[in-house]
Amino acid sequence: MERTLIKETTQKIGETVLLKGWIDTKRDHGKIAFIDLRDRTGIVQVFAQGSQVEGLHAEDVIYITGTVQARPEKLINPKLETGTVEVVAEKVELVSKAAELPFDMSKEDIEAELPIQLDYRSLVLRHKKIKSIFKVQQVIIDSFREALKAKDFLEFQAPSIISSVPEGGAEVFKVKYFDYETYLSQSPQLYKSLLVGAFERVFSVNKIFRAEPSVTSRHLTEATSLDAEFGFIDSYQDVLDMQEYVVRYIFRQVEEKCAAELKLFNATLPNLADKIPMIKLREAQEIIFKRTGRDCRNEKDLSPEDEREICKWSAETHGSDLIFISHFLSDKKPFYVYPDPDEPEFAYSVDLLGRGVEWSSGGQRLNDYQTILEHVKKWGLKEEDIELYLQSFRYGVPPLAGFALGAERMTMQILGLKNIREATLFPRDMERVDIRLSTVQPKEKTKQQ
Ligand code: ATP
Ligand code: MG
Repeated sequence: MERTLIKETTQKIGETVLLKGWIDTKRDHGKIAFIDLRDRTGIVQVFAQGSQVEGLHAEDVIYITGTVQARPEKLINPKLETGTVEVVAEKVELVSKAAELPFDMSKEDIEAELPIQLDYRSLVLRHKKIKSIFKVQQVIIDSFREALKAKDFLEFQAPSIISSVPEGGAEVFKVKYFDYETYLSQSPQLYKSLLVGAFERVFSVNKIFRAEPSVTSRHLTEATSLDAEFGFIDSYQDVLDMQEYVVRYIFRQVEEKCAAELKLFNATLPNLADKIPMIKLREAQEIIFKRTGRDCRNEKDLSPEDEREICKWSAETHGSDLIFISHFLSDKKPFYVYPDPDEPEFAYSVDLLGRGVEWSSGGQRLNDYQTILEHVKKWGLKEEDIELYLQSFRYGVPPLAGFALGAERMTMQILGLKNIREATLFPRDMERVDIRLSTVQPKEKTKQQ
């Protein structure tokens, strides 16, 4: 018999069906038992004789042949998509036995600390609420793609192995590459910029690698970056507008396609005013000083505390949970940033903050070859290290700008998750690559012994 998917059962009242799935929960009532059977499309209640399901428990993979019955009015379960029916089991086959579970997976929230949940990632990812995080993330990433394709951007695959680190080397992973030393890419920045010379408008969904030296709730060592870059801009305002368009598009799609998932997290999408407000770094610091007395007015960047405060201010005074901060210090930014001609110590660089955390960084880039060369010297870089990049600008590149949004940060902030690891299928940090590194021997140590 052909398999029937669980969501199709409501259309098959009176028919005999073959269902294949996992036991989500089992309720024993002596001679009879109820099983909530789960497959990729949902959950349905199965009624069985106690003897048919003896010894079975949650996560066992079973095949059930049975008849679909309409439930009497008073037994309809409105919480279940298939709540109008139940399946009366005729035959129950055990296909794959599950080990005893380390915790109860039937609870609305798994009652185990995050590190334990990450240790049991394969199992935990089966939980309804956890799975829904990745449905939302899929919609975010799909929508990023759709929004930019609609504006004629070309998607490219960014390389991960790179030969030099012109953006600063402290947070980079080294990779032995035959007889050479290479690095894992922290950002596809130079590639996306040089590709503007070929395709005008490009974007990529790629992994970035950062040897983040501390363990925080918003940093991973391997993250997903949603990168875009485009040419023929009229001013750096264009990059704000493009980003705002993309973010609004993403929010609309998440709202439309993920209502059930948002509900599970009691989450609402961030409020956006008519226009996302934009202020300069120094203005933000002044506001923070006035509101809190904390003097950060000469700092080169906003601290996490400052980011939370300025988002609060934005929500209170502009009704917007998102805010752009521009004009970071030119010499604290990479060599390619475009200094504001009116105040060249500040750059046309723009961060987007949302609900207290940075979501993206971007800005206008230098496109004049001679100016780029001057910056390369001033920044103490070697031309040969970025030859491919320079080559593109030597042959003519229009005024350009771009941005990079963190996919996990967006997922975390939209759903109100406390830790970015929750928004990552297989999070990596200083202490974890799948399993906790403290449980394995560091290679060096083994060698020394
Ligand atoms: P932060 O200041 O918050 O550490 P950043 O300024 O170093 O971030 P960028 O280089 O601007 O990060 O990267 C662009 C975007 O990529 C960030 O705004 C963020 O959304 C995401 N991102 C960067 N680093 C990480 C990371 N280690 N883990 C998760 N997301 C990251
Ligand atoms: Mg940044």
